[in-house]
Amino acid sequence: MAITREGRICSFCGEPGGPGTDLPLIGGLGAQVCARCIDDFHETIHDEELLAAARSTLPWDSMTDAEVLATLPMIMSSAEQTTAFAHEWVDMLRTRRVSWAEIGRALGVSRQAAWERFARKSGDKGATA
Ligand SMILES: [Zn+2]
Repeated sequence: MAITREGRICSFCGEPGGPGTDLPLIGGLGAQVCARCIDDFHETIHDEELLAAARSTLPWDSMTDAEVLATLPMIMSSAEQTTAFAHEWVDMLRTRRVSWAEIGRALGVSRQAAWERFARKSGDKGATA
């Protein structure tokens, strides 16, 4: 199965984006960023006052408990998306016939540990390859 941006969310604001939406997403390593967040970050980076404010405070320091709680599910969704991307990436490697030993070596774990982490969920039965 090909890796796409379909059904992904922005890892920074949690908005759904990508194909079939009006919100372009780009990204890498599993993280996605939407065009609105890029514009916001660009504005902050190029405005001395906004940049100084961003450097001096952490956004969550001024958030209410309700806002922090409301953000928690979005953090979990982003984390789950990144984990799912790692599984898709391993599936792609397996499709390319990269061995579990090589995948394990890349992750600094044994072949068995790599297989247990990724193959059981993807249904890959090639534990010995
Ligand atoms: Zn965003």
